[in-house]
Amino acid sequence: MPPLNLHELTREDLRQQLVRWGFSSAHTKLLWNRLYLGLAESFAEMADLPPRLRTHLEAEATIGRPATVRETASSDGFTRKFLLGLADGHAVETVLMRYPGRVTACVSSQVGCAMGCVFCATGQMGYTRHLTAGEIVAQALHVARELRQAKGEGRGAKGSQSPSRLPPSPIALRPTPEHDVSQHRLRNVVLMGMGEPLHNYEAVMQAVDILHDPAGLALGAGQVTLSTVGVVPGILRLAAEKRPLHLAVSLHAATQAGREALVPVARKWPLDELMAACRTYSTATGRRIFYEWTLIEGKNDAAEDARAVGRLLQRLPAQVNLIPLNPTAGYSGEPSRSESAKRFQRILRDEFKLPSTVRQRRGIDIAAGCGQLAVGQ
Ligand code: SAH
Ligand code: SF4
Repeated sequence: MPPLNLHELTREDLRQQLVRWGFSSAHTKLLWNRLYLGLAESFAEMADLPPRLRTHLEAEATIGRPATVRETASSDGFTRKFLLGLADGHAVETVLMRYPGRVTACVSSQVGCAMGCVFCATGQMGYTRHLTAGEIVAQALHVARELRQAKGEGRGAKGSQSPSRLPPSPIALRPTPEHDVSQHRLRNVVLMGMGEPLHNYEAVMQAVDILHDPAGLALGAGQVTLSTVGVVPGILRLAAEKRPLHLAVSLHAATQAGREALVPVARKWPLDELMAACRTYSTATGRRIFYEWTLIEGKNDAAEDARAVGRLLQRLPAQVNLIPLNPTAGYSGEPSRSESAKRFQRILRDEFKLPSTVRQRRGIDIAAGCGQLAVGQ
């Protein structure tokens, strides 16, 4: 049996596992603390565990810690992108966005993606495999460690840096004052990296449960956002299970034909079924859905497109997130001009009372923007 990666387990799973191994479940709390508050990278850091338990863990378990294959930082200092190596040789990208007042990890749920959206770098690379819950959690922990390290450096602490660490990015600390403690804790996780999270439902939900655990990373319901291309059975399952998270649905077009041209899986899950599922979700959970709309010049940014999405969402609890297209190797479209984005927003607001935001274009210089994540290309 391969060693058990402890990051695959919820706290309750860990408790049961300790009992199966013949240890008292009373050790769960301390071990969980070391994993999620101490952000331990090895059992050697857990000197306060009973020696017999530590020896057992060293033989039977691991702490999954992906290696940093490459790290890049955007020139404005707000975004860092990590290429993380997995145990089987594959790799995924994880992004840390450290804007004033908002620290977010954008994590991947799959190596590649099977959904094939034409303008997305991950879709262009195809599907390799699902990530495990532990591999998803490990990305959030990687970002949490980077934040902790930045905090230590901000205070001039020397002891917190392990020798295996990459040198810190010189600009990582620049965007925010170091006394702003809120900038050193992971506050938001968005499942918007590589992959379609609802195609990997079980592992993603296990990871979300671990992220939410109040005795660990303690992310609240509003601090985890899952973005889906529109996997209808997954949305219905989320609704039935009333999962405490924000849901974002990638719409991009308000007609069936328009959607099929950009999002091939719209053939499998047509627009009317998708909207019915969204309605069910909002009714069951009382939550507003974010609808994402990648703005492509001349394709879906006309006044008429704005009116079509306005009519589609008019009676739903909705917010529209407009994302000007980011460049990818396999798609030749251009991002909408800012006047078109503003007109789109104005129509949604004035004619349909629909709130919307335009996503800031950050991290584009290191291909860390929406839809730019890919490996092996
Ligand atoms: N698979 C999920 C989540 C990952 S993609 C989904 O599709 O929703 C995250 C967001 O980035 C989605 O809204 C997606 O449509 C958008 N996106 C993909 N490629 C993009 C690009 N080149 N420019 C801007 N947004 C893009
Ligand atoms: Fe997959 Fe989302 Fe990219 Fe579409 S946009 S290919 S669903 S990652």
